[in-house]
Amino acid sequence: MITILAGGTGSVKLARGISKIRDDLVVISNVADNIWLHGLYICPDVDTITYGLAGILDKKRGWGIMDDSFMFMEQMKKLDQDYWFKIGDKDLALHVVRTNFLNNGKSLSWITEWIQKKFSILSPIIPASDNHMETRIETSIGDMHVQEFWVKNHGEINISNIRYQGIENAVANSRAVESIKNSEVIIIAPGNPISSIGPIISLPTIRKELESKKDNVIAISPIIGKSPVSGPASKYMQARGIESSPFGIASYYNNVASNLVISNSDVDYERSIKMLGIDVYKTEIVMQNLEDEINLSNFVLNIFTSA
Ligand code: GDP
Repeated sequence: MITILAGGTGSVKLARGISKIRDDLVVISNVADNIWLHGLYICPDVDTITYGLAGILDKKRGWGIMDDSFMFMEQMKKLDQDYWFKIGDKDLALHVVRTNFLNNGKSLSWITEWIQKKFSILSPIIPASDNHMETRIETSIGDMHVQEFWVKNHGEINISNIRYQGIENAVANSRAVESIKNSEVIIIAPGNPISSIGPIISLPTIRKELESKKDNVIAISPIIGKSPVSGPASKYMQARGIESSPFGIASYYNNVASNLVISNSDVDYERSIKMLGIDVYKTEIVMQNLEDEINLSNFVLNIFTSA
């Protein structure tokens, strides 16, 4: 069994690649970007993985369903409603169904499994927790949800702190902990370390399980040189006092992963990462198409099968 810890746009590429090679993949999905909007419970990372594995993701945007329309949003705008978080018309159906199930007492993991089966996705998608927790960004103009910071404010405000609100009362999904326990390889996807992977590995039972299996855990750097492939990872890492580089990634994951994949171009970081006791592997880590995704997936899996 292979388990991948995943956020959204970066993570889904590797999850898709692995799913083309192995039929025993389990995805543990971030939930700390979940948000209530317009009376609907929206789970952006869970949905990106779902649409990605179902083969209907809008790859250009990195979220939502391909060829979707936005008439609902246009109408909401006419009615003076919040317009900053775009919800496609087909995508809307999923949020309505999920919210109805929640209102009828179903858990997020039950609902996610129901959706996974509806889309005929083989891989179980397990929300890291059924409890609501959210990444909050503290900024010069106040404290806000991570979606509000990145989508509404375009990530342009100075950050003073980042925290996971509600994590102290959140319980990791037992199926997620079990799948880490039973996997021969656990992959930390090239996701945002602070807003996507951080909330998952900060859940105590998941962290404990990873720590005890760290030799089987491999992370893929979302950072090349000093910059992320996309998104606000640098800004978030710096706000947490972590260097934005493959070395910063290595030190952040040091207690939970003994293996790190970095870019061929980052050979200069190899020595300092090895000094942390982490094995380093170099390859092409930017995934621009399905072939890249499968190549990187094979590279990661071969590290363990050829060991
Ligand atoms: P989000 O929830 O939409 O932010 O998505 P993720 O957390 O899964 O992914 C965002 C991170 O993925 C960013 O830090 C990017 O640098 C990284 N990323 C995106 N595409 C790639 C890629 O092709 N290769 C690698 N190595 N990282 C990527």
